[in-house]
Amino acid sequence: MINHSTAGRPVEILLVEDNPGDVRLIREMLRGAGAGHAHVELAQTDRLSSGVEHLAQVGADVVLLDLSLPDSQGLETFTSVHAAAPSVPVVVLSGLDDESVAVRAVQEGAQDYLVKGQVDGGTILRSVRYAIERQRLEAARRDLERQRDEFFSSVSHDLRTPVAAIKAAIGVVLANEPPNMPPALHRLLGNVDLAADELATLIEDLLEIARLQSGRVELWRSTVDLRDVVARAVRALEPLTQARSQHVEMSLPGEPIVASVDVDRLGRVLRNLLGNAQKYGRDGGTISLTLEHDAANVCVSVTDDGPGIPREVQERIFERFYRVRGAASSGPAGTGLGLAIARGLTELHGGRLWVESTPGQGSTFHVTLPQR
Ligand code: ADP
Repeated sequence: MINHSTAGRPVEILLVEDNPGDVRLIREMLRGAGAGHAHVELAQTDRLSSGVEHLAQVGADVVLLDLSLPDSQGLETFTSVHAAAPSVPVVVLSGLDDESVAVRAVQEGAQDYLVKGQVDGGTILRSVRYAIERQRLEAARRDLERQRDEFFSSVSHDLRTPVAAIKAAIGVVLANEPPNMPPALHRLLGNVDLAADELATLIEDLLEIARLQSGRVELWRSTVDLRDVVARAVRALEPLTQARSQHVEMSLPGEPIVASVDVDRLGRVLRNLLGNAQKYGRDGGTISLTLEHDAANVCVSVTDDGPGIPREVQERIFERFYRVRGAASSGPAGTGLGLAIARGLTELHGGRLWVESTPGQGSTFHVTLPQR
């Protein structure tokens, strides 16, 4: 793979390592691996603080980072470097005894880890090169995602006004329908009205997901009894559950469950979960909703008797635009945005949203929120 970002100039490695023996060894190994030929420049510091300073003042293409330094230990060493220079790839150097910490650093965003004593110059060079390349590809992917989000956001904005105009015009036509309007025409007008509603919902979903993505959603919290929020969400769904003869079983505690939440946003999360239970549940089936709490958390669970969700996609359904192929549902096809929005809003509340499901036996979605 060609490294475009560093093509034609030396790869600048910053080695943050306080053990002089290890520093010497790494230098020699890199030299031995033909690093001179490969145009590698090695800078070295022996403290976290001086490493961070070097990154701020000089920068580097990649950091080789020992996690045990005189002024920082363990995972924190990595998180400090990563926070100081998020765009610079980091390869962690660990001893055998702290390999598990190195693995955690990779989970937190380090590009790779190398165990001292188990590497030679060639391994280090390869790891460094791939780290730089992977980081570059990730940055390009993030950039594309940002452009896509900006595109959706600006298109959605532009669509809002004409859709509102269609909706308003249809409203006027429906209100002034002549008595002799042919039934087929009347039905068509109703369809346009419904389609405009669906389009408006889609646009609002796209705008909400763009706001969540860019951290622009602010919660308007108030202290409420969650039993009311839950009951309202169930009521909003009644026309749809009644249309399919579905029964909603609510299990609420006898005493108020007081929490500080954004009522509209939490209502939206619950309506999404109940809406899915209604869409994917059986005709004449049962949707159960439970509200429970312990000393620290509140938990709302929504259970349906639908087809369930295959285990391998149980996390993916929370991604934007992801829909399970061939999942039968009643009503209009969804957009795959509902659960992504619901999870985003739940996490903004400091909570969690996840699903438990056995295919063929329905699904249970759980929302937990800190009670404060
Ligand atoms: P939408 O329902 O609009 O497609 P969501 O983000 O709400 O989007 O859901 C994503 C996907 O997860 C759905 O397309 C469906 O395949 C699956 N899903 C969500 N809820 C359920 C459920 N209760 N039972 C079965 N599948 C579900």
